[in-house]
Amino acid sequence: MSTQVQALVVGAGISGLATAYALQKANVSTLVVEAAARPGGVIRSVQRDGYLLECGPQSFSGNSAITAICSDLGLLEERVLADPKAPRFVLIHGALQAVPMNPLGLLASPLLGGGTKRAILRDLLGKSEAPEPDESVADFIRRKFSERLLDWLVGPFVSGIYAGDPEKLSLRAAFPILHEAEKASGSLLRGIFPAIKARAAKRPKGPKGPRGRPTLQTFSEGNEMLIKALALNLGERLQCGVEVTGIEHLDSGHDANAPRFRAAVRTPQGEEAVEAERLVLAVPTGVAGKLLGALDGEFEKQLGDVEYAGVAVVSLGYRKKDVNHSLEGFGFLVPRSSRLNDLGTVWNSSLFPGRAPEGEALLTSFVGGATNPGALQQSEAVLAETIHKEIMPLLGIRQEPVFSNVTIWPRALPQYNLGHTARLAALEELRGKFPGLYFAGNYLNGPAIGTCVEQALNIADEIRVSFAN
Ligand SMILES: Cc1cc2nc3c(=O)[nH]c(=O)nc-3n(C[C@H](O)[C@H](O)[C@H](O)COP(=O)(O)OP(=O)(O)OC[C@H]3O[C@@H](n4cnc5c(N)ncnc54)[C@H](O)[C@@H]3O)c2cc1C
Repeated sequence: MSTQVQALVVGAGISGLATAYALQKANVSTLVVEAAARPGGVIRSVQRDGYLLECGPQSFSGNSAITAICSDLGLLEERVLADPKAPRFVLIHGALQAVPMNPLGLLASPLLGGGTKRAILRDLLGKSEAPEPDESVADFIRRKFSERLLDWLVGPFVSGIYAGDPEKLSLRAAFPILHEAEKASGSLLRGIFPAIKARAAKRPKGPKGPRGRPTLQTFSEGNEMLIKALALNLGERLQCGVEVTGIEHLDSGHDANAPRFRAAVRTPQGEEAVEAERLVLAVPTGVAGKLLGALDGEFEKQLGDVEYAGVAVVSLGYRKKDVNHSLEGFGFLVPRSSRLNDLGTVWNSSLFPGRAPEGEALLTSFVGGATNPGALQQSEAVLAETIHKEIMPLLGIRQEPVFSNVTIWPRALPQYNLGHTARLAALEELRGKFPGLYFAGNYLNGPAIGTCVEQALNIADEIRVSFAN
């Protein structure tokens, strides 16, 4: 059997769902197919034993794209916002130290040693040049500031976003604004505010906390509420348990409205085909590369070379009376020099209501990442035990957890490693050979949910315009 649609979206993670949602809203006949039995990809919320936990992302930063979708779907009332003043901690010499959230506080903080402060002054008064063709985040921080800044603050921050290795991550791919700031003004600090302003001017504004920072948020029933609302809205235009196994490029001649792609799909009923005028691949790079191999072998090479970091998400519940710490704040990050398996721990029940039963606290830690891939070889039980033992002394925990849940993502996050910018440029050039082909996903503009949604809306708009012309 063969189905024909204007747009076929492959993959129903947040990138694919948001693209399909915007396409159908623009009256483009759309089908989104998802290989798994449920939509959402790595976004998964679980309610069990009175706990509400997240198996993947714990929360997200609001932006105007997400707010617009929430508003459309009647989800605004269900959003819960974290206190933007909630302190964040970093583990230094075995103790949790608050990280000042404003530049002056940070400058005055003992977290920055004399060497880093002198380097900051040098950056402010001097002129430096970014090396070509690419530079790792670690080399950038060492060149401009200090090893201590890299270990204590930048490394943990990088693992908090990418679960990445700063020695491998490309500065210009992972943190383009820092690269642009130095390039434009010869100084990170002189250039950063104009660079932020220039970007902000280009982007529509999202919801802001009292101090003007994007506010961390989720929903009353977890992140998956957004997925469920999008799926409900798409109705039969979303088909789960349907895996795309191959893609063929069709010769549509001069007919702009003839199908340009045929996707072979495996459904519970058997093999089928879907023909589409526009094709959006919202799947991880390895899958996209394999699917496009028949169009041009270079796709497989460029996409297949993107490395992923695996992450285990370990959620532990404790009785508050067994924890000798206020748990007031966002949680803490862990420098690699501490040699712990824990990359960082979020204090979920302090940030959002309804995450744990009365009198109990939910804490979620991350293990593995690009700097400790071997950790994921351990069983779920060992991972939970390891984290419990590591956070016990840090938070004055006296008893075993009363709740535990471990989710292992072998390919959790794409790594924006050295060469990533050049790879994306090559990919864009290849894509140009196949009009009607689009990529969506967390390896393009950044891994944050808000960025994926923003990008999805842009792609849908590009497609809408392509039909109008
Ligand atoms: C542990 C973890 C913590 C995170 N923390 C945060 C956070 O705190 N804040 C934040 O903003 N972001 C966070 N992120 C990042 C963010 O969640 C992801 O970048 C984003 O959700 C990715 O969405 P996606 O749709 O691009 O990809 P995915 O969610 O990977 O979706 C891709 C989909 O494609 C489907 N698929 C694959 N092959 C096929 C096929 N052949 N046919 C059909 N379908 C197919 C898959 O089953 C999957 O559903 C985190 C991610 C992880 C893993």
